[in-house]
Amino acid sequence: MRSSTTNYASRIHRFRLPRVCVPVVGSDAATMIERAESVVRDNPFLELRLDYLPQPAAALPKLKNFLEMHPEATAIATCRRVVNGGKFKGSIAAELALLLKAADAGFPLVDIELQSAKSLKADQLRGLSDRVGLIISYHDFRATKKLEEQFAEMSKYPADFYKVVSTATNLSDNVAMMKFLEANSAKHEMVGLCMGEQGIISRVLGVRAGSIFTFGAAKSGEETAPGQVPFNELRDIYRIDNVDAATQVYGVAGDPVEHSLSPIMMNAALRRESVNAVYLSLHAKSLKDLLACVRDIPIRGLSITMPYKQAIVDALENSDPLTRQIGACNTVVRSLDGKLYGFNTDVGGIVAPLEQRLHLAGARILIIGAGGVARAAAFGLKAKGAEVFLTNRTPEKAQTLARQAKAKHLKRADIAKTTFDVIINATPVGMGNGKQSPLEDKELNTKYVFDLVYTPAETKLTKMARARNLQVIPGLEMFVQQGARQFEIWTGKPAPIAEMGYVVTKALERRAAQEEAEETKAAKPAPKTTARKPAKASRK
Ligand code: NAP
Repeated sequence: MRSSTTNYASRIHRFRLPRVCVPVVGSDAATMIERAESVVRDNPFLELRLDYLPQPAAALPKLKNFLEMHPEATAIATCRRVVNGGKFKGSIAAELALLLKAADAGFPLVDIELQSAKSLKADQLRGLSDRVGLIISYHDFRATKKLEEQFAEMSKYPADFYKVVSTATNLSDNVAMMKFLEANSAKHEMVGLCMGEQGIISRVLGVRAGSIFTFGAAKSGEETAPGQVPFNELRDIYRIDNVDAATQVYGVAGDPVEHSLSPIMMNAALRRESVNAVYLSLHAKSLKDLLACVRDIPIRGLSITMPYKQAIVDALENSDPLTRQIGACNTVVRSLDGKLYGFNTDVGGIVAPLEQRLHLAGARILIIGAGGVARAAAFGLKAKGAEVFLTNRTPEKAQTLARQAKAKHLKRADIAKTTFDVIINATPVGMGNGKQSPLEDKELNTKYVFDLVYTPAETKLTKMARARNLQVIPGLEMFVQQGARQFEIWTGKPAPIAEMGYVVTKALERRAAQEEAEETKAAKPAPKTTARKPAKASRK
């Protein structure tokens, strides 16, 4: 290990480093500096990826100037070689020469890959680490394995920080990374995380397992590694600066979950109610992986989404009567002794918005669909005394559900001849593109239309309903209500429903604007080429 006189970590005390380092890339120095300028105001810890620059040495005077103008910034210089997953095509000697120049330019930290460190002579590496804080990194772009073995290799070389980055191919890889950090962070200054969509747990919770810092993208679209989360999301949504040993962990588990708005909504609620907890998106490719992760992290509560709502029931120690009746669970509580208890808040999510508007006893309600949510709606509304009708693309499924829930099956052809108080769309029709409706205009003989689809916020069905002056209940209300009940079950506090609705509405607006911009871009005709035809003429 380094002597204490040269220990960089003792010079910049570990607790002084911000928790998030933002990698900044650019195809030239001006672009890189412009991006660094926009980040440094909010997050003074940067990694400037010199390997992205075509002529990194030539850019150093400009980067020096940037560092002089921003004494508040702590910047890492990285010039990762192509063989190590970077873009620098030069030799290891050229990498070393650049990092030494970066030290002269005022970078307080440089990052060198283990493979480069191994190839350098001991006095070359010492020469570098005597001049500047040294991070030795190891990246595995495929898996999370042999972390201790790799670290044994790394720790032969003196460094201020050891950075170990692997790829999560399942949720349990995060557990392996955090155990590895816990085992080594008392003796060494460690940085560790898992890349990939499934690595979010380690990106947020790694800091409490002993990672001195983590990495966050400058913004969405400027990620330098798979699964990188924008730094402002780490700070504002996941509140990474407040994550500590007492922080409770919750999450939404399913496959897929990447587009779920639950993390935005639930983290906003936790922040508003000052609950020391974080809510993560858990992409579980199998229930077994999820359950192992729940045990090891340990996770205090889960929102369960497709495809595990039914399958999780068998793993529960106990559940509320509605969960048992419906056979589906969307909310799990893990008690301190590790037992799992199940609830179904989808029912409350459907019933509550309706109860706010009408008396359910005796109300005539048509549910379209016979899947998991239709099940929750049928049992929940029957329990409130409603007269429930079911119709479905596959009629046999609606007939079966109707029998089980003591509801009535309705043929599609009979809908236009029947009147209802409420029609509920419990199918995915209308989701995403907003151009399809599960029913035709003439079939909307009802006072209320409750479309459970909430992306987009306005569907073809809700537009048709508004055009007929019907009352519309947007799917967002179910989403917020089912989440509010989960929050209350987990925390025992009343849910900040207005805040939850607000952040989800804003997120949906941002998503819609982004999709519109992408559509406009895609629809733009390709610019006319002004190049002359190479044509036959030249061949003449
Ligand atoms: P599910 O179990 O997969 O059931 C889907 C149902 O929709 C089935 O009855 C299916 O009919 C029917 N369906 C699927 N595609 C169809 C099509 N093209 N035309 C006609 N019917 C079609 O899904 P789920 O969990 O019940 O969720 C249903 C929808 O509810 C989701 O897609 C989502 O939009 C919405 N949802 C909203 C919230 C919220 O908080 N607002 C929460 C959860 C779900 P078959 O039986 O013929 O396959």
